[in-house]
Amino acid sequence: MDLKLLEQTLIECGEPRYRTGQVWKWAARGAGAFADMSDLPLGLRESLADTVPFSTLTVEREAHASDGTIKALFRTQDGRPVEAVLMVYRDGRRSICLSSQSGCPLTCTFCATGQMRFGRNLTAWEILDQALHFRRIGAVDHAVFMGMGEPMMNLDNVLAACERLPDVGITHRRTAISTIGWIPGIERLAADPMPIRLALSLHAADPALRSELMPVNERYPLPDVIAACEAYYERKRRKVFVEYVMLAGVNDSFAQAAQLASVLDPRMFKVNLIPYNPTDSGFTGSSPKAIAAFKDELERHGLDATVRLTRGRDIDAACGQLAARASPAWSSRSRSSASSSGEGSNSATSASSSSESSPNRRRNSSVVR
Ligand code: SAH
Repeated sequence: MDLKLLEQTLIECGEPRYRTGQVWKWAARGAGAFADMSDLPLGLRESLADTVPFSTLTVEREAHASDGTIKALFRTQDGRPVEAVLMVYRDGRRSICLSSQSGCPLTCTFCATGQMRFGRNLTAWEILDQALHFRRIGAVDHAVFMGMGEPMMNLDNVLAACERLPDVGITHRRTAISTIGWIPGIERLAADPMPIRLALSLHAADPALRSELMPVNERYPLPDVIAACEAYYERKRRKVFVEYVMLAGVNDSFAQAAQLASVLDPRMFKVNLIPYNPTDSGFTGSSPKAIAAFKDELERHGLDATVRLTRGRDIDAACGQLAARASPAWSSRSRSSASSSGEGSNSATSASSSSESSPNRRRNSSVVR
């Protein structure tokens, strides 16, 4: 809900200032319509329903996975696709994965969103409305900015949304912002009083391979990014979660695990290995065996490592996948060949061939490097 528009409308109606807070309180607790807000005068509820859209987003599709994951594809008022996911875990956690942009200007080669055209930054209300959508289904207690887009490139709106997430049930400590390593954003988050967790998408410790997978590495090289993360740790005293998507024969060798361990201080970083959610990118995910071996190698070097639970596979829950399928006009399928030279192989030789055989990247006019 656009709270600015709401506030303006309430002022025009001659309503007292506290009404905006009253409406927000209802919405944040999962109310589905103005009509439900029983402590508002009936006439006001009716006139708000006529003048203020209850959500800035409309639901275009919703997919329910057998494991309880729900993925929603929304449209903004100007027709941009936005995705968000609710993940339900056995331990009771109900975590939402939020988008910060429609599409993404970065072009990570393995990511479905990276292959879409960049639309625009989402407003704080469009970010909050993703959370409210799931709040209407049930309680939510964790949030990660791991949906579409690079949150650090839209940090004003992301932080404005984060300020209100506790009202929805999600404390700052249970909120994580994931970044490709956008240094100005990492520095701002470190300075912000909210104790929000930082997650870093690292994916390869080798500079050439990282630039291949994530072209933005040329703009913000990994050593500088690591230094910014260490400064975040010093300031916040909260470990940085490193995301590492496991791509067969590309970044999953023993040698690459050792190299990753050599750049991360175990006191400051924890690694989360991500099984690859297949997209049309041409990459193949590492086998469970290769992932386990990589994890063992990290642990041998003293690093804390976990393997991410895979959720919502049967509904294309990975970043950008639902939007890519629902509206081909927003996506591009320029990939031709597969990159991996050995299914789940964990050998240094298959990894070293990756840069020659990686699929070509699509470039568009609004990409950022
Ligand atoms: N732009 C931010 C946040 C969005 S992506 C970032 O990159 O951190 C959230 C995570 O999902 C990133 O680590 C990204 O690399 C990863 N990801 C993208 N596509 C994926 C896929 N198909 N399978 C598994 N993880 C993927």
